[in-house]
Amino acid sequence: MLAVDKTDYSLVGIYGGTFDPIHYGHLRIAEEFIDVIDLCKLCFIPSGSPRLRQAPGASKYHRVAMLRAAIQDNVKFILDEREIHRPGESRSVVTLRELRREFAENFALCFLMGVDVFLKFAEWYCWQELFELCHIVIVGRPGYISTMNNIGLPQELAQEVIHRQASHVSELKRASNGLVLTVTTTMLDISATAIRANIANKKSNRYLLPDTVLEYIETNHLYFPKIRI
Ligand code: ATP
Repeated sequence: MLAVDKTDYSLVGIYGGTFDPIHYGHLRIAEEFIDVIDLCKLCFIPSGSPRLRQAPGASKYHRVAMLRAAIQDNVKFILDEREIHRPGESRSVVTLRELRREFAENFALCFLMGVDVFLKFAEWYCWQELFELCHIVIVGRPGYISTMNNIGLPQELAQEVIHRQASHVSELKRASNGLVLTVTTTMLDISATAIRANIANKKSNRYLLPDTVLEYIETNHLYFPKIRI
């Protein structure tokens, strides 16, 4: 159900991901998300055990430590470790149900995701329920076409989204949940996959991620191929 009413909702951003490791692609869109949507804060929620992808290259402990180091200077960025501590596979719907209960009714939750992730959204556990719990905000990513006009979306997802499309940010403030908005942010062709590959190939990652994170990776020897004896 799309709950449109007269309330002027305060918007809280939710940003889930593996963050293996966190990089400037994540950080820049997070910063722009706050500006464009006028968020009061943005919760980074690292996934403990992602369900639909390979096991991360770094442990939960290391991924959280890198995330903490990367976001500590930004007062609007909040680290939420609940998926790290929850046993079993991470499921966003479980997290969003909890957050919905924790936030007062005048807050609307806005779940940020890149278009690469949204294209597979219909594979998520109880994905339709997420529309009952939050809005979804999609950002572009180099190499992927925009989901604007639902081009490229699987049919099941396109049908669900067609009546939910918001055309302006202000619409998110007038509904508690259920809208989908595509926003334009700076396109940065940075991925954690490429960063891990650079480490494996002894190539530089400088300027792709914060120096604090780079130092953490080096100190803890993360992502280097295991030497077989
Ligand atoms: P990997 O390469 O290991 O798949 P990733 O760089 O895609 O990792 P994730 O932690 O899996 O990073 O992504 C978390 C969220 O951030 C996803 O919604 C993803 O689409 C988005 N995202 C990651 N990098 C970018 C980027 N450069 N531009 C826009 N969105 C991004």
